[in-house]
This record gives sequence, structure tokens and C-alpha cells, in this order.
Amino acid sequence: MHDPDCLFCKIVAGDIPCSKVYEDDEMIAFKDIRPAAPVHLLVVPKRHIPSMAQVTADDAPLLGRMMVKAPELAMANGCNPYPEGGFRIVVNTGAEGGQEVHHLHLHILGGPRPWRNG
Ligand code: AMP
Ligand code: ZN
Repeated sequence: MHDPDCLFCKIVAGDIPCSKVYEDDEMIAFKDIRPAAPVHLLVVPKRHIPSMAQVTADDAPLLGRMMVKAPELAMANGCNPYPEGGFRIVVNTGAEGGQEVHHLHLHILGGPRPWRNG
């Protein structure tokens, strides 16, 4: 599934550049263009899923692999080790959930405090 009007589909397709930190056959991870923390990555499934509001049981293996990949990417990109360090995983969903790009993505936020939005 690919939405020609979707920003992250364009990044997945390579039509818009990104600062890529990881890619496999089902997901891509890149640096957020407007970081809210010293480390701010986005983990994006290649398939266009609009948000967490649309996920089904069929998506569970993909979502599980994204969640398992997140700590590895956090550590590889500058987050400090648990428990003194750590990171935050956020999935904004819908307008009231603060979602601006309607292609499902995990935010990985980490690094020394303070962060832009606390
Ligand atoms: P959300 O508000 O959860 O939908 O998050 C969308 C995120 O995408 C924001 O943190 C933006 O800074 C980020 N973003 C928007 N455009 C780009 C881009 N071209 N490359 C990387 N990150 C982007
Ligand atoms: Zn998309």
C-alpha cells in the first residue's frame, strides 16, 4: 500500500530525502527533521498504515518487530544505557493525539535532559 500524497510514503520511496539510520524490507528509520530531544528518530513501516487507529491483528508481527528494533536504534544513535539513560517511545494518533503525518510512526526520543518539550 502506497499513498501518493503521503510524506512518509514519499520518503519510503526515496522521492524525498531523509537522514536514514536503518532500513529493512518492512521498515525505515530516520532522524526527525525537527528534533524535540538530542536523539529523535522516527521508525516508519514501509506499508501505508494511517495510524494506530487502523491497526489489526495482522499488523501485530510488524508492530512487534518495530518495537523490538527501537531500543537497538536508540542505543546505536546516541541514547544512554538504561537505567540512568533510556528513551521514550511515542505514537501520536489522530488530531487530538497530536498526529501531523498520517502514516504510522514511532518516535524514539532520548539523550540528556532538558528536552524541547520536557
Ligand atoms: P507526528 O506529529 O507524530 O505526526 O510526527 C511527525 C513528525 O515528522 C514530526 O516530529 C516532524 O518533525 C517530522 N517530520 C516532518 N517532515 C519530516 C521530514 N521531511 N523528515 C523527517 N521528519 C519529518
Ligand atoms: Zn504513507
